[in-house]
Amino acid sequence: MNAALPRPGLREVAPYEAPQLDVPARLNTNECPYPLPEAFREQLGAAISALSLNRYPEREAETLRARLAELQDHALDGTWVANGSNEVLVQILQAYAGAGRRVAVFEPTYALHSRLTWVTQSEVVTQRLDEPWTIGTGDVDAAFASRPDVVFVCSPNNPTGNTQPTGAIVEIASRGSALVVVDEAYVEFGGDSAVALLTRFPNLVVVRTFSKAFAMAGARIGYCLTSPEVVEDLRRVRLPYHLSALSQTAGLVALDHRGEAEQILAAIRKQRDRILETLPPMGAEVFPSHANFVLFRPARPAADVWRALLDRGVLIRDFSAIVPGCLRVTAGTPEEVDRFLSALEEVLT
Ligand code: PMP
Repeated sequence: MNAALPRPGLREVAPYEAPQLDVPARLNTNECPYPLPEAFREQLGAAISALSLNRYPEREAETLRARLAELQDHALDGTWVANGSNEVLVQILQAYAGAGRRVAVFEPTYALHSRLTWVTQSEVVTQRLDEPWTIGTGDVDAAFASRPDVVFVCSPNNPTGNTQPTGAIVEIASRGSALVVVDEAYVEFGGDSAVALLTRFPNLVVVRTFSKAFAMAGARIGYCLTSPEVVEDLRRVRLPYHLSALSQTAGLVALDHRGEAEQILAAIRKQRDRILETLPPMGAEVFPSHANFVLFRPARPAADVWRALLDRGVLIRDFSAIVPGCLRVTAGTPEEVDRFLSALEEVLT
């Protein structure tokens, strides 16, 4: 028998999981429903076959960072990339949190913020927001009462879809004593960005991803824009050669095709808005969304609705444990949304 024990509490924590089922409409993980265009695939194939995979990749991923920096009109030494925005988040926590330090989150929000805080042995301090989940001065005061070292804000927020006012980010960043991480995984779909505040606040980090608007969830590329000091600190904790040559190449090719990605955004927003309009007459409450998903509260118990939709080939996400009575659906292709809407109509009426 294995007598070795993991860290205390580890076995009480379940692995992060979202079902990956082969159903006609997979609308549970906020991915882009469209595959990348043929020209992208051809360019990517050629670029990958030209790589010298016997060599380590560019350790600082400077070519990809420089392209991103140029596109975002931000300094290269304040731009950082990693394996998905999740790895950017974990590197931030490794550098700025850790044992004996505190991380504030405004709930309900993306579960990984508190999970990664736990992974990095730091203490989570939770400030619960009420509908419509806008951060106000009282919430900021309450969060800072515990003297956090890092504060997370997610905007547009997952799973609620609302964006936080720039004034709230200014208020949090102005306190100065904490690193403020604004997770903008969905910002290309709508809402305000905190990027313009970067020149004012060296303690601000804006985290972005290629997984949603760039249709590259499978490539695992995320980045952040911040001050050079923060990037220097991230370099101290990153694994050597953390971002593979394959990922760096995929990121560069994706940036060449960002025009196509932008066209897809309009199609996804259209489906999101269609969901927002169609659900209320079915008796479901919807919450305004600036992202590529919609949180809604059906008149029937959420778990029953989730199951009944799955029986009809539509996989969405049950958030009722986090926001009472609520489900979240990703805006997919028009066909997927058709299927979702007709299944929901059948279930609710
Ligand atoms: N932030 C938020 C708010 C998310 O919803 C997600 C993905 N669901 C991520 C970050 C992580 O994205 P990735 O690691 O694929 O970049």
